[in-house]
Amino acid sequence: MRADGGADGGHREQGRRVRRPGGERRGGGIRAVKTDLEGVHRSVVVVGGGQAGLSTSYHLCRAGIDHVVLERDRPGSEWRNRRWDSFCLVTPNWQCRLPGFPYRGADPDGFMVRDEIVRYIEDYAESFDVPLVQGVTATRLRLAEGGGFRIATTHGELTADQVVLATGPYQVPLKPRLAERMPADVVQLHSSEYRNAAELPPGEVLVVGTGQSGCQIAEDLHLAGRRVHLAVGSAPRVARFYRGRDVVAWLEDMGYYRRSIDEFEDADAVRFRANHYVTGRDGGRDIDLRAFARGGMRLYGRLTDIRDGVLRFAPDLKQNLDHADAVSEGIKDAIDAHIRASGVDAPIEARYVPVWEPGAEPSELDVNTSQITSVVWCTGFGRDYRWIDVPVFDGRGYPAHERGVTSCPGLYFIGLPWQHTWGSGRFCGVADDAAYLASCIASARRDGAASEVPWIAGTPESTFPSDEYWTATRTVA
Ligand SMILES: Cc1cc2nc3c(=O)[nH]c(=O)nc-3n(C[C@H](O)[C@H](O)[C@H](O)COP(=O)(O)OP(=O)(O)OC[C@H]3O[C@@H](n4cnc5c(N)ncnc54)[C@H](O)[C@@H]3O)c2cc1C
Repeated sequence: MRADGGADGGHREQGRRVRRPGGERRGGGIRAVKTDLEGVHRSVVVVGGGQAGLSTSYHLCRAGIDHVVLERDRPGSEWRNRRWDSFCLVTPNWQCRLPGFPYRGADPDGFMVRDEIVRYIEDYAESFDVPLVQGVTATRLRLAEGGGFRIATTHGELTADQVVLATGPYQVPLKPRLAERMPADVVQLHSSEYRNAAELPPGEVLVVGTGQSGCQIAEDLHLAGRRVHLAVGSAPRVARFYRGRDVVAWLEDMGYYRRSIDEFEDADAVRFRANHYVTGRDGGRDIDLRAFARGGMRLYGRLTDIRDGVLRFAPDLKQNLDHADAVSEGIKDAIDAHIRASGVDAPIEARYVPVWEPGAEPSELDVNTSQITSVVWCTGFGRDYRWIDVPVFDGRGYPAHERGVTSCPGLYFIGLPWQHTWGSGRFCGVADDAAYLASCIASARRDGAASEVPWIAGTPESTFPSDEYWTATRTVA
């Protein structure tokens, strides 16, 4: 990563003319941009300097396309600022294959912890000559008269022929409005704000939601000796290991991660479903909520209402636990079939037997008379595209695209969950998407940036979203 500031506040000619961050260091080492970007033009502006934006930049650099990456904070900020202390990857390290920078550490089958992930992304940014401007937020994106785009930022307005939006799949922490009816003396956090058990007030903790974050945070609190009350949703689970290998390794061999979204009949159902829960903690293991219950955690169905401090739950705990197990066992069935078909030698493994069953499901919990002092809402994230003034969204505010290419020539998205494959919104698949978009960008340049890109002809007509739509696309991480 070039980090030149200089007397001109960060301008420098290096083949591509790029304004550099200059000026003072703020807390945490973030460099604030002193000079503005007013009047700067680039062939391509990439908004967002996480793994998706950096991967795009890597391919644009290789193609010799002048561009700049705008990052409001610094690379890796999502992992640095919005993950808890014991956080680790759920996907094995060998799946971290950013373009030109695959994981080469000593533990390919392990799971990097938060600070290692941050370092991996920082090292990636350092590994090539990324034209990055940190500490700049893009605040408005519009079509420019005569073609191309105008990008207003906190440091002036620049223009570009083409724009790639890499602003992240999990942008806005979502809490249900129900939270407003929680008794005032209960401390409330979103999963993105949770750090560790010791930061919560003494007492019992309610965790709402059982996607990846909810299950892992509930486990973190449970291991720290807290009494946890867990409102269980309908997220599926997956076993960590089966028949001698990580399930992810089997699924890789079975070609699951190469399947494109177009192969699924109901693409939306695939794109917007909650992730399977499992953990990489301590070398990786299952998350079995039934085992937690046996160990003293209190499980409930979905939280549906709060009245006068009394929480109400749907009678769906058994159904949700059974569903999670059924999905996990179904994945094992598919692995068995693969082993049979391919003749691979793999040890036989006994199937899962439920270790706990809910009795009469508690339908209510009175917070006033309980020891609950805090709530962690693990209820997912939304996307905020209100600053994008270009009509490329569908009726829910989700960007209408074909493999990241929108119906607006020159405008692209990257890093969306299942943008093209399972790995699109993860470390394992973003490289392919970045290479693909770089080739689209290069060919649009050859044809004239504003020309129609042929492979998106027939994209359904988009509708411009109203403000409330952006919360409608909810993803549970
Ligand atoms: C709890 C959780 C666990 C996960 N676990 C895994 C895992 O085990 N394995 C895996 O492969 N993936 C995992 N993921 C998914 C994925 O890898 C991460 O979400 C990752 O951060 C996505 O990278 P990204 O670059 O697309 O987006 P982000 O990392 O969100 O980066 C987007 C960047 O854009 C910047 N930005 C946003 N808006 C603007 C703007 N207007 N102007 C300028 N900059 C802007 C942000 O500051 C940010 O740095 C997990 C996600 C979550 C939430």
